[in-house]
Amino acid sequence: MFFRSISHHLSILKNVFRQIVWPLMLILSIYCYFFGMKLQHPVLAFNFAYFGLAGSLYFLERAMPYESAWLFSDGQILNDIGHTILTKGLSQLLTTSATLFGLAEFGPSTSFGFWPESWPLFFQVCLALMIAEFGLYWAHRLAHQWWPAWCWHAVHHSVTKLWFVNTGRFHLFDSLWKSAFALSLALLAGAPKDIVMWVLVITAFIGFLTHCNVDMRCGWLNWIFNTPQLHRWHHSQVLEEGNKNYGENLIIWDIVFSTRFLPSNRKPPLDIGCADPVPKKFLGQIAYPVTAWLKRQKM
Ligand SMILES: [Zn+2]
Ligand SMILES: [Zn+2]
Repeated sequence: MFFRSISHHLSILKNVFRQIVWPLMLILSIYCYFFGMKLQHPVLAFNFAYFGLAGSLYFLERAMPYESAWLFSDGQILNDIGHTILTKGLSQLLTTSATLFGLAEFGPSTSFGFWPESWPLFFQVCLALMIAEFGLYWAHRLAHQWWPAWCWHAVHHSVTKLWFVNTGRFHLFDSLWKSAFALSLALLAGAPKDIVMWVLVITAFIGFLTHCNVDMRCGWLNWIFNTPQLHRWHHSQVLEEGNKNYGENLIIWDIVFSTRFLPSNRKPPLDIGCADPVPKKFLGQIAYPVTAWLKRQKM
């Protein structure tokens, strides 16, 4: 009787934790970055939050996996990390070049910008997220509907399991393509560099939370953010299911353009991936947009 009551209480606790873990991890990571900004150590704070979140998800994936079969290796861990390092390097280069060429200095004082600099930081970040998300949504949707762009996006969709490590598995061209859409919109709107940095930081945190293999229930957050519950459908091999939920951080543009998809009567398929013959080796994956294009020319 005593043990039955303990296990009953434990299962209630586990259920509550499932409901709060997504927002809890995001709020903690954001607070860590915010705290670091106040102390003038944003890079240190970001890395602390980024690797702290990765470490926590590593343990949570083992303690409460969404799918136990996805805990086994797919032989792609080094490739996933390789793509992450390349794309992270690229985004840093982009931010630096934007500063070098003065793009980030458009700001509210120029004729390009309408930026509401007097708004509280929270609302400025929300606005920048919505503007950048519009670019991310269309870059992603086009990548699914325009074959040349699909060739590089297929590298992301070639995964056969979802876990936090394949968050950064994007081909270099894919990241360049998405950044060009999102950053140019945010900078043209006059978003200051600090606010753009906030968008990049939140994107990194939400990316981990979207791909992780943790059993989370996001409830009403599924109407605001791109959550793992929504994104698992996006990795379906069935086109009517996979060509949905294009949002990167927010789901607002999927709602506006009628591509949000979260059926309540069934779970997303576990057999994920894509039909394209994306190579297993890293260099083959890097070369894939070119090799796929050459192959198509010969047909
Ligand atoms: Zn996609
Ligand atoms: Zn994904």
